[in-house]
Amino acid sequence: MTEYEISCLGKARFLTRRDAKHRANAIRRNGGPHLRTYHCTKYCGLWHLGHPPGHATYTRETPHGPRPIQELTQ
Ligand SMILES: [Zn+2]
Repeated sequence: MTEYEISCLGKARFLTRRDAKHRANAIRRNGGPHLRTYHCTKYCGLWHLGHPPGHATYTRETPHGPRPIQELTQ
């Protein structure tokens, strides 16, 4: 899995930071993790939720095999 796939490809894209924040807040209200917004300057130029490239990722065993996930706690 490339950095591009982890940090951009598989993620929801938002046109503005405001949109991304709004979504992050909605996720949190529903009992989800606290996600950060970041500007994807390297690839698509839009905003994502999670960690920017270069931040820790690790794999987790799931029923579908190990999957790279992003560290969601701060
Ligand atoms: Zn992107």
